Amino acid sequence: MANPKRRHSRSRRDKRRANWKLKEKAFLNCTQCGSLVISHRACNKCGFYNGEIAMIIKSKDKKVSTSSSVQEV
Ligand SMILES: [Zn+2]
Repeated sequence: MANPKRRHSRSRRDKRRANWKLKEKAFLNCTQCGSLVISHRACNKCGFYNGEIAMIIKSKDKKVSTSSSVQEV
């Protein structure tokens, strides 16, 4: 098994660990209802993605799907 010949310095170790950061989530406004949505995800409020219904949101006011490839969540 390959083993490291020399131990890394504290500086080198800490420089490696300094690159571990949390990324800010990319938020967009839904084109249909205007609520905040995560990019590349269907809207939680209206279920729209890329201009068409991607999923049916179960709520009091039931929405009728127009797309054939509707996935119920
Ligand atoms: Zn929406």
